[in-house]
Amino acid sequence: MQLQRALAGGRRHHAYLFAGKEGTGRRTTAVEFAKLLLCENPSEKLNAGRFAAMADDFSLRQACGRCNSCRTVSAGTNPGLKLIYKELAKFHDDQQVRNRKMQNLSIDVVRQFLIDPAWRASAGGHGKVFVVRQSETMSIPAQNALLKTLEEPPEGVTIILICTSPDELLPTTRSRCQLVRFAPLPVDFVAETLTKDGVAPEAARFWAAMTGGSIGLSVRRADEKLYEFKKSLVEQLAQPDAPAGKLAEMLVKSVEKLARKLHTRNKDLAPSLANRQAGQIILEIISSIYHDALVLATGSAGQVVHADQPDAIAAIAGRFDPSELAEILAQLARCEQLLWRNVNAKLFWDNVAITCTSAAALEV
Ligand SMILES: [Zn+2]
Repeated sequence: MQLQRALAGGRRHHAYLFAGKEGTGRRTTAVEFAKLLLCENPSEKLNAGRFAAMADDFSLRQACGRCNSCRTVSAGTNPGLKLIYKELAKFHDDQQVRNRKMQNLSIDVVRQFLIDPAWRASAGGHGKVFVVRQSETMSIPAQNALLKTLEEPPEGVTIILICTSPDELLPTTRSRCQLVRFAPLPVDFVAETLTKDGVAPEAARFWAAMTGGSIGLSVRRADEKLYEFKKSLVEQLAQPDAPAGKLAEMLVKSVEKLARKLHTRNKDLAPSLANRQAGQIILEIISSIYHDALVLATGSAGQVVHADQPDAIAAIAGRFDPSELAEILAQLARCEQLLWRNVNAKLFWDNVAITCTSAAALEV
């Protein structure tokens, strides 16, 4: 809607910052927006009630969807649309850049794949759109080098920076872009989408809530085995005298299993990194259980994640008082930080298990 307004009356910005959590449609919108900007035959349609916040006679611009440009954008082959990301370093002209370890989106990549082509005259005359993924990973020199192009790009050039949090970009970068925020989608909507993709309704509702309404994340997480695991985990935590040792064992095994799966799915992921990601996912699930219990214990109106196991959550809420639940959550958050340091896995999950079963202090 904000984009439609920007297009109206020629008051077009040249640089946009699409900010929002993963899976909120930033990239899809960027591609659709590029399609509209590059379309050879865009049409104007009256709003006629489609967007409540705009007048009925507001003119919406639409891509035709049929021209060569529209079709090649959909196919991902339109030379006018360029995606920029740090891994492009592998294709850089300079061998030194190709061999360097990629830590961020470097100035070399931004120069060769964005700034230089932007300033070369566009051959077809249809303009160019550059979409920078994870723009917060741009190094400071890269951002500084890009400022002039963001400020006043050549005729027909549009730059879209995608990021999670605009605060992680330099203020000078931010101020040159029109900010468009992407809010998380309603949980019901995400759950419905997952169900259409074949996920069982209960599991779909869980993943939608667990990821805070992120379609992208929930599609990646929605795994039948992981859902079964979370159900048995909730049951186990609800047992009054669950032994911490047995729980720790179960957690270590589950993390290893999930790490192997993540590694199989993405061979580029180093086993150690897969291990940490798996640990993080499982810790997030554990935290969400105690978060639900706290919501229930305090009668607050927070979003409940484990709506499929209300009795078990009630049992956990009944075993601890709210201050203990808050303490467990605080300790789990501390664990999450430790996960990224080199802490012995067994010791680590032993501590998580002790925290969960007794709200005892963490000693790692
Ligand atoms: Zn078109």
